[in-house]
Amino acid sequence: MRSIQDDYLSRAEAGKFTTEDALALYEIPSFLFSLADKLRKKSVGDDVTYVINRNINFTNMCIGTCKFCAFKKQDGYIMPIPEILEKTRAAVDINATEVCIQGGLLPDWDVFNYCEIMESIKNEFPQLHIHAFSPMEVFHAAENSNMSIKETLSCLKKSGLGSMPGTAAEILADRVREEICPDKLTTHEWIDVVRTAHRTGIPTTATIMYGHIETLRERIEHILTIRELQKKTGGFTEFVPLPFMPLNNMLGTGMNVSRGIEDLKLHALARVLLYPSIKNIQVSWVKLGRGLAQSALDCGANDLGGTLMEEKISKSAGATSGEYMAPQEFERLIMEIKRVPKQRDTLYRHVNGF
Ligand code: SF4
Repeated sequence: MRSIQDDYLSRAEAGKFTTEDALALYEIPSFLFSLADKLRKKSVGDDVTYVINRNINFTNMCIGTCKFCAFKKQDGYIMPIPEILEKTRAAVDINATEVCIQGGLLPDWDVFNYCEIMESIKNEFPQLHIHAFSPMEVFHAAENSNMSIKETLSCLKKSGLGSMPGTAAEILADRVREEICPDKLTTHEWIDVVRTAHRTGIPTTATIMYGHIETLRERIEHILTIRELQKKTGGFTEFVPLPFMPLNNMLGTGMNVSRGIEDLKLHALARVLLYPSIKNIQVSWVKLGRGLAQSALDCGANDLGGTLMEEKISKSAGATSGEYMAPQEFERLIMEIKRVPKQRDTLYRHVNGF
């Protein structure tokens, strides 16, 4: 006779896990973890990947009003192009294959400012992959340039944009967005930017920022929205759960957040709900810390993200895990849990680097 667990397994394997399935499975963590681990192994085997990259946050000034933001400053900086190039050079010197560029929303910046950054980098480092600009930044650039999203993305691609971080997703539910980031693009607008990027040949990651005012059902529905979009476009490279960091921001005031089982359950749920549409579930070592990141790798995750070199956004909101992790440290963490370290590029191609 088939058990309930067999039913869950076959629905997950068929990519047909529902909200109700996920709500029920959430209550049985031991089974959730073993199912997620099984599906991770079927998707990618025992490899655990990481990328050598550098974050460059070109400005911390912003006209946004997100209540969870600890990054923006009234009297902040705007990084001149020569400084961006200097940071890029330092990244290339440690064999980085990617620079990840994001910043606040400057009131007078249009698409040409964003293109200028990429053209300057590509001019000096034509081989380097530029992973840049959230859907919110693209939306902002389009508005300020009186251009459509499609035209804006085409300009960015021509200037060297290789892929985009799927940040600014937070929780894709307008009830939540109105509370935590009322001036940000809506769920529908986020999906529109990302879908258009995929159709323009720009892959993106997908993220979720969880652990604030959202319900479990809203988390699950967010992940299912990503799954449906992936079925249509195939443009997501990975899914990255990002826990809310409560320090130095309005939303976190009075909130006491502890990391642990809830984080592991979310990574596991993501694996189960996104199987087999999205193969890569990334765990953020910056936000979770090294030990919990290792545990997440046993609960469905298979990627540790990037070396980063510089990490301002999480650090300003209370992350204490550091701003750089050397490739040797990634290799050690991965081998410690008896998995196989593999350096990758942004698009998950194997790199014979380290
Ligand atoms: S999260 Fe981004 S868009 Fe929102 S206020 Fe901060 S820097 Fe601006």
